Amino acid sequence: MKLANRDGRAVLITTEDHAVDVHRASDGRFGPDVPMIYDHWDEFRQWAATATVPPGEPFDITTLGPPSPAPRQVLGVGLNYDDHAVESGFEAPGDLPPIFPKFVSSLTGPVTEVTLPEGGNTDWEVELVVVIGREATQVASADAWDHVAGVTAGQDLSERVTQLRGPAPQFGLGKSFPGFSPTGPWLVTADEFADRDDIGLRCEIDGEILQDGRTRNLIAPVPRLIADLSRVITLYPGDLIFSGTPAGVGLGREPKRFLTAGQTLVSTVEGVGELRQTFVSGRR
Ligand code: ZN
Repeated sequence: MKLANRDGRAVLITTEDHAVDVHRASDGRFGPDVPMIYDHWDEFRQWAATATVPPGEPFDITTLGPPSPAPRQVLGVGLNYDDHAVESGFEAPGDLPPIFPKFVSSLTGPVTEVTLPEGGNTDWEVELVVVIGREATQVASADAWDHVAGVTAGQDLSERVTQLRGPAPQFGLGKSFPGFSPTGPWLVTADEFADRDDIGLRCEIDGEILQDGRTRNLIAPVPRLIADLSRVITLYPGDLIFSGTPAGVGLGREPKRFLTAGQTLVSTVEGVGELRQTFVSGRR
């Protein structure tokens, strides 16, 4: 099942460009707002599994917002792929990788224009994003996927000057400028994947492929992330976990590369779809 947020209303995606309004199709039982769907996720899944929905109507992808538009928490995971830890100059974490917040104000849908912070070095990080579907505290790894509504594509855009300045790194701020957390184009439930623990992800700038990885190489895979995180914090329906990025970011290159005005960044998660960001200068 594919669930999207079209202009603030929950829709089921029936084909690549057709969607059905959930509120109308369920005779008012679910929606129209998207967050209420995650708060009633089990009932919603049951309804969606048996409901007969019409073929839907065409929609424009630029009208889509974030698949989970009002998470209580957005968590990022650092150094969660060996090859990315190496290019970042760190030892791969043996235990739980570093966790940081991405503030909710940076969240957007899949197709956006992003202003590059003046004097900054803005970098790309394609990631699988997990959307929580059931409140999770002290969850065992074996039960973790039962607490997931689905997954989507995410870009953990990162301004490296802010991120790395000061006596201690500022991950939360450096990764939370306006538009720095695009997600989408929609949520896809885990049953749609041949192997939910082995999903391909890729990003490219103006057609040049810069990252190409698979989630089977996550140091802390999704079940372990949820188990370890839920030992400390409560995860709520609609919460997002940016699960980490594979190698190929600009900071890890020789010479280093960063995004410039006029470039287009396309981030793809296999079985989900793509995000498309264009960049403009902060100096206008
Ligand atoms: Zn990241």
